[in-house]
Amino acid sequence: MLNLVLFGPPGAGKGTQSALLIDKYNLVHLSTGDIFRYNMKEGTELGKLAKSYIEKGALVPDEVTIGMLEAEVNSNTEAKGFVFDGFPRTNAQAEALDAFLSSKGTSISAMLALEVAEQELVTRLLERGKSSGRADDQNPEIIKNRIQVYENETAILKDYYAAQNKFVGVKGIGSIESITNSLCKVIDALV
Ligand code: AMP
Repeated sequence: MLNLVLFGPPGAGKGTQSALLIDKYNLVHLSTGDIFRYNMKEGTELGKLAKSYIEKGALVPDEVTIGMLEAEVNSNTEAKGFVFDGFPRTNAQAEALDAFLSSKGTSISAMLALEVAEQELVTRLLERGKSSGRADDQNPEIIKNRIQVYENETAILKDYYAAQNKFVGVKGIGSIESITNSLCKVIDALV
């Protein structure tokens, strides 16, 4: 299986690039943010719980997020591999993902980290907020909080994957196509 963690701060382009990569490599896209938003739209219990965190720009608790992610993987029995987008975001999530994949006889192939400067992230998120309808993309305070949470809790995961020789940094600025090409170069070397 080809299992990729597409990593980076909010606004780095993970969703855009994931959509392109899953087509090219025939993988399943698992975005925890998308799954939470779907549940919020449907008004499920999970959606109600997630909303209270998402609207502050905070992380949804690990046990909830990990359980949800594992259920999604389990329901995709035919998948040739996954692009994990927005997961893992904490050390506990990364460890849980490794243990879970290992129990299924597979593992993460690589973490591809999109690198974008903070000011550019804020500009991109506010721009996206105009059309996405996402409340967390429209409020500069929430955006600031999300970036802060990324710096404090999530960025350290680069070290986690580097320790396994699985971390690859990719420049996340330029045209969408040029960034996709950079990602594909890395992936082609893996398959
Ligand atoms: P995203 O679409 O990846 O930007 O995620 C939107 C929001 O969903 C985040 O700001 C978090 O509140 C929540 N979220 C998404 N993925 C996770 C995760 N792996 N762990 C905790 N919260 C998450």
